[in-house]
Amino acid sequence: MDALPPSIQGDELISTDPATGEVVGRVRVTTPADLDAMVERGWQAFHQSGWKSLLPHRRALVLQAIADGIAAEKEALATLQMRDNGKPLAECRGMVESAIGTFRYYAGVCETIETDVTPQRGDYVSFTVLEPYGVVACITPWNSPIMNDATKVAPALAAGNAVLLKPSEDSPLLAPELARIALKAGLPEGMLQVVQGRGAEIGAALVAHPGVRMVSFTGGTTTGRAIGRTCGDKLIPAALELGGKSPHVVFADADLDHAVAAVVAGIFGSAGQSCVAGSRLFVEAPIYDEVVKRVIERAKTLRVAAPDADGVEMGPLASFHHRERVIRFVDRARSEGGNILCGGAVPEGADYARGAYYLPTVIDGLPTESLTCQEEAFGPVLVCLPFRDEADLIAQGNATAFGLACGIWTESFKRGWRVGRALEAGSVWINTYKQSVTTTPFGGFKNSGIGREKGIDGLRLYAQVKSMYFGLHEQPLSVAR
Ligand code: NAD
Repeated sequence: MDALPPSIQGDELISTDPATGEVVGRVRVTTPADLDAMVERGWQAFHQSGWKSLLPHRRALVLQAIADGIAAEKEALATLQMRDNGKPLAECRGMVESAIGTFRYYAGVCETIETDVTPQRGDYVSFTVLEPYGVVACITPWNSPIMNDATKVAPALAAGNAVLLKPSEDSPLLAPELARIALKAGLPEGMLQVVQGRGAEIGAALVAHPGVRMVSFTGGTTTGRAIGRTCGDKLIPAALELGGKSPHVVFADADLDHAVAAVVAGIFGSAGQSCVAGSRLFVEAPIYDEVVKRVIERAKTLRVAAPDADGVEMGPLASFHHRERVIRFVDRARSEGGNILCGGAVPEGADYARGAYYLPTVIDGLPTESLTCQEEAFGPVLVCLPFRDEADLIAQGNATAFGLACGIWTESFKRGWRVGRALEAGSVWINTYKQSVTTTPFGGFKNSGIGREKGIDGLRLYAQVKSMYFGLHEQPLSVAR
């Protein structure tokens, strides 16, 4: 049986704290008629507010003011996100910091991005300018709402677009706060509006709406494929940041203290609810038993607790219905013949009774082609696989539909380079893991997505190139040239 969907009562979407089951807040669900009006309002704002024609350094001032507004409410926003999706408070604070940094960075990019004067081939000067699309849709998942919202909204606004932001129905509370802060910071009304409700209903209607000219989506691969199809029919661009099953590789020459710590952080940070979670651990055969033993020892000592508890390392999963999915994933691993080396259960005790908790879980004994090794759990579930040599590692590492990220632990610089180039992944971390900064492009190979967010190209994603020619002809143009 499928897990219960998020709660909608009448025209309200109800956000529940996954640590306690308590109601945190309610938002109004967007109806199809609301959506039509919002798209209309977005176009009006785009054409009439003056935002797109503001000189970039003026637009940058507003983006900076939005960053200031987020910073002024940092603790309240972090606490709200913690209650909306159950992530530890320290992580939520980090995500609010990241959102602030993203608005500041795109203020800088907005002011400094250059276009090209292209090589001359006649009596004219030719150059490019960047034009916004108009009304764009930004659709985000529940795992890091404030951070994912900022990663899309800041560059989309910087490029001059009006944005319809659709947060997940599982974490609906941060997006309205961002819109409120942006308005207060001086963003013209209608330039950032929030669409709320179920993805399959209002999310699909948003993508299909004839007034939406570009879609930027972060979420699951199945949803991304459906969105890509609709955008293909409409012939509008879709930027897709999708799922992953990232290999985390430990060679026999690695610094094992660092490698084991990173493997544990890479999968159990955010309770595994991270697109770049290192969910497949590959260990060179001679050190396989030792590394897996050390990972299990550490996994067993992780402090699973309320997101605001002292020293918490893993909070609950983001919702009770998501925990059902993770439970089913591990049950299937068992039926495929996997050995559950630790976890594989809901923790017991009064502290966990009200929340959507699940224990850090380590599995081995399954071949690369098993569903457990192929599909994303998006939870605290690590599957371990031995490898013989580089060729075997590269074959197994690439034997998945995904290609989001990978980690490689080796003291050999040359091997790190070789393997990093050979693995099919949008981000490669050598002797580190899960680094992701606003200045550096991020995105996936294969089924992990299309397009790159972050960095300077993160702004170009929301702009279309226009080529301009200024004639310098001394003579009238002739018909036959
Ligand atoms: P999801 O695909 O179910 O939903 C993501 C968003 O899309 C939500 O806002 C949802 O309401 C909306 N949506 C759902 N169906 C839709 C449709 N048919 N049309 C339009 N919108 C629709 O994903 P999720 O469960 O919220 O998030 C988990 C997934 O997101 C995981 O697969 C994870 O790997 C991925 N993710 C990827 C990245 C990345 O940057 N690559 C980052 C975070 C999460």
